[in-house]
Amino acid sequence: MEAVANGVYQVKKGFRSFVIDGDEGLTLVDTGLPRRAGAVTAVIDSIGRSVDDVRAIVLTHSHMDHAGNAAELKRASGAELYCAPGDAPAVQGDEAAPTPPFMDRPPFGMLKPLFGLMPAGEPAGVDHEVNPGVVLTLPEDLVAVPTPGHTPGHTSYRLDRAGGILFVGDAASHRRGSVARGWFNRPTPAIDGSVQTLAELEFAIACFGHADPLTSRASAAFREFARSL
Ligand SMILES: [Zn+2]
Repeated sequence: MEAVANGVYQVKKGFRSFVIDGDEGLTLVDTGLPRRAGAVTAVIDSIGRSVDDVRAIVLTHSHMDHAGNAAELKRASGAELYCAPGDAPAVQGDEAAPTPPFMDRPPFGMLKPLFGLMPAGEPAGVDHEVNPGVVLTLPEDLVAVPTPGHTPGHTSYRLDRAGGILFVGDAASHRRGSVARGWFNRPTPAIDGSVQTLAELEFAIACFGHADPLTSRASAAFREFARSL
C-alpha cells in the first residue's frame, strides 16, 4: 500500500488504481486488470476499511487494465459505477474497447488483432454517465475533466485535496518527473489537446495509469510539456 497523499492510496499490481478515503466512505478511481480485484481489496483492508465502504467506482476509460474489476468490485461493494458516455458501451460489453493509440503506428499495428483476443474485463453496468465539468458528489467531490484521445471518452478527475490531486489515467505519463505522452499514446490533435487542457488546471499531485505519482509541482510539469507541443 502506498499513500499518495493524506487519505489517497495507490494500488500497484501490474496496473495502477487509487482509493480515496473520505468521511462518508471510499471512492475508487479505476479498478485494474481482470481477476486482480484482490489487489484493490488488499489496499482497502490495509487502511482499516472494508470493501463495503466503497460508495463509488469512477473509471478514466474502458481499457481492461482500468475497468477490469469494475463488475466484481461493484458486486462486492454495492457501489455505483461512473464512466463517460464515450467509453460506457465498451465497459458494458456492448462494444469492443478501442485499441490503444500506439497500435495505430507501425509496426505495432500487427498487435491490433491480438488486442481483440486479450481477456476483456467482465462487463459492468454503468450507473452514472460522467459529463464534462460535472462535479461528482461522491464521498468526495471529484471534478470530471474530459481528456479524449487515448479513448473517445477518456476522462481525468481532479480532487480538491492536498493542493489538488489529478487522476490523469492514460491521458499522459512521465519520465523522471518530465511529463510525456506515454508509450501507449501517439501525437494526435486530441491527445495533445487533452494535455493542454490538463496544463490549465492547478494541482500539486498527479496520479498516472502507468507511472508512479508526481507528488509535487505536478501542474508545472504539465505546463512545461504542453509548451513543448
Ligand atoms: Zn488505456
